[in-house]
Amino acid sequence: MALLRFKVIQCPSCGHVQSSQSNTTFKCFRCGKSRKMNPKSKLGLGVKILASFESGIQAAQFIQAYQQKKVEGFL
Ligand SMILES: [Zn+2]
Repeated sequence: MALLRFKVIQCPSCGHVQSSQSNTTFKCFRCGKSRKMNPKSKLGLGVKILASFESGIQAAQFIQAYQQKKVEGFL
């Protein structure tokens, strides 16, 4: 099994999507709020992990596609 270190996370406060390698804390680049991550918990108390990838490039591509879809949704 490959290790999926790069997680794509959506900020629960402002909805900003970014990638993170951290397993413990998520800090949003946009609103600056930090939140503890608990990967063992299946309950939606922590941050929302949209996807996980082996490389940062894949994570960045996913974010780009996700944001484009989101933009199209507003038009
Ligand atoms: Zn935020």
